[in-house]
Amino acid sequence: MTSPNRRILGFNYYLFSMSRTKSIKDVNLAGKRVFVRCDFNVPLKDGQISDDSRIVAALPTIQLLIQQGAKVILASHLGRPKGQRNAACSLSPVAEVLAEKLGCTVTFIEDCIGEEVEAEVAKLGDGEVALLENVRFYSGETANDPAFAASLANLADVFVNDAFGTAHRAHASTAGIASYLSTNVCGLLIEKELAYLGDKTNQPERPLTVILGGAKVSDKIKVIDALLEKADTIIIGGAMAYTFALAEGRTVGESLSEPDHISTAKAALKKAKAKGVKFLLPLDNLAVKDLDFGAGTIGASQFFEGNIEAGWEGVDIGPKSIALFSQEIKNAKTVLWNGPMGIFEIDSCNQGTFAIAKTIADSEACSIIGGGDSVKAIKMAGYGDQVTFMSTGGGASLEFLEGKELPGVTALDTVD
Ligand code: AMP
Repeated sequence: MTSPNRRILGFNYYLFSMSRTKSIKDVNLAGKRVFVRCDFNVPLKDGQISDDSRIVAALPTIQLLIQQGAKVILASHLGRPKGQRNAACSLSPVAEVLAEKLGCTVTFIEDCIGEEVEAEVAKLGDGEVALLENVRFYSGETANDPAFAASLANLADVFVNDAFGTAHRAHASTAGIASYLSTNVCGLLIEKELAYLGDKTNQPERPLTVILGGAKVSDKIKVIDALLEKADTIIIGGAMAYTFALAEGRTVGESLSEPDHISTAKAALKKAKAKGVKFLLPLDNLAVKDLDFGAGTIGASQFFEGNIEAGWEGVDIGPKSIALFSQEIKNAKTVLWNGPMGIFEIDSCNQGTFAIAKTIADSEACSIIGGGDSVKAIKMAGYGDQVTFMSTGGGASLEFLEGKELPGVTALDTVD
């Protein structure tokens, strides 16, 4: 259970306390019924799994539990069935892939609570694995309904949370269940997320260079603010940079920007100066005339240094910015990246993002890719296997980097 101390100290807990979240490596689960919340929210195309990375990511925890001789009960959500049974969101295709990858039988149970499920679970031998049906077939899951959480807890002796992607949600299977069980620990995946997004970012090998991009300053200002406390250098790219350009009195043409947040950008620039954090904005940008996102076309294009003229829309960083940012990344000992440098989904606008991805991949630094679009971009650029760590959380990694408590983590036990 969570210690009261932990709740009071919040994020500082990770910074100042020697305690850490208990993991499956700290406990012996032989013979125990272990409820493992995984993130099997995989993309499906015609009933087939089109990307199995989330299943692959969950394997080390499951394999360790099998080795320990636990009775492994896997649970997840898939899609948005909104509290209704929906065959299109069934986890049964996941059971097949899991069985193949684990090389053992994975019993698929067609529900996730109730007497029949309990009877099925009771048949599990030590080291055997079952997968429950989608927990979001019940509205009690997202509502974190105590009765639903208690029904899930009835299946098990121990709760293991290994679904970082949903750890920022207080749902029944990610947090509520922990109130009904006496042993609540994280799996290997969450343990790694906490190590990289937490410890390695909070006590980094310096210099720590943070690269932030993406669409909006308003979405990332809390992350910028939190990272200004830790980083030696912050690099800003993507459309976010245009609000900072406005704050510095430059023009941005038709680029995506947030004039309402100029004061937010100014405050961040001021804080960076006061803290002695190097704050780098793009020197140049690729701008286009007729961007059609759906068609993937851009019309006329031109690089602008400094001001972007009226009628032009900034879509990527330019070569001078790439050189400046890359030099800084090469000097870093720890690199944290969240958010693309441009509209990387369109081929003609992906050079900046891909160049930064390459520099990060080539660097000797501990490289941490903070989830969402940056992970997508680094994989698209072909460097997914050349970085130290890629987060499996989008919203969860952002919230964690902002310093927010994640209910799916604070629900777990701690060790000193
Ligand atoms: P975020 O979810 O905030 O990390 O934003 C990612 C999105 O930002 C991606 O879909 C990019 O296409 C978009 N983005 C990055 N740079 C720009 C830009 N210069 N103009 C418009 N959108 C951008």
